[in-house]
Amino acid sequence: MARYTESVCRICRREGAKLFFKGTRCYTKKCAFERRPSPPGQHGVRRRKVGEYGLQLREKQKVRKTYGVLERQFRNYFNDADSRPGVTGENLLRSLELRLDNVVYRMGFAPSRPSARQLVGHGHFTVNGRPTNIPSYQARPGDRIEVRESHRSREPFKVVRETLRSHQTPEWLRVDAATLGGQVADLPRRDQMPLDLNEQLVVEYYSR
Ligand code: SF4
Repeated sequence: MARYTESVCRICRREGAKLFFKGTRCYTKKCAFERRPSPPGQHGVRRRKVGEYGLQLREKQKVRKTYGVLERQFRNYFNDADSRPGVTGENLLRSLELRLDNVVYRMGFAPSRPSARQLVGHGHFTVNGRPTNIPSYQARPGDRIEVRESHRSREPFKVVRETLRSHQTPEWLRVDAATLGGQVADLPRRDQMPLDLNEQLVVEYYSR
């Protein structure tokens, strides 16, 4: 799979928003976006006029990169969202929120989405008791997601036990800190997805 190997902080600067790829560092003064919010590159600080298309494109890229999805897969998410009843933009965000790596992040078992993706890929989790290492797995209401029992004493999860105490779990998820597990209680509504994203611009981008 193609992998982005440059500094992820450049993505935040390019998209003009904090996308929280680096866990706790993002909340400190070391955050690159806090120190240099201009777009990266030699001419990053130049003021440029951005048209309607440019706005739509940037928002689409921002949503896509927030969830770490490649272009083709993102387009598939959009087509699927568009074919289902309901509001396309909300359907799209819901599908992205229900990705297993995002659920693991939202439950507080990883400090960032890239980290959650890595933990899932390394086979640390089970879904309904079955080991699952596919970050794009679509979780459903009722799914039980747990750190594998034999992995619970491993280093990344020692830290998680500490941070879980102060973690704010979204209403559509339940977390049991004692067993390092949780459940998808419901489908997330738009107001339960705390995202500074304008999904309508993404819909307009693909509807041109
Ligand atoms: Fe983005 Fe986090 Fe880097 Fe700040 S520290 S620029 S929020 S990835």
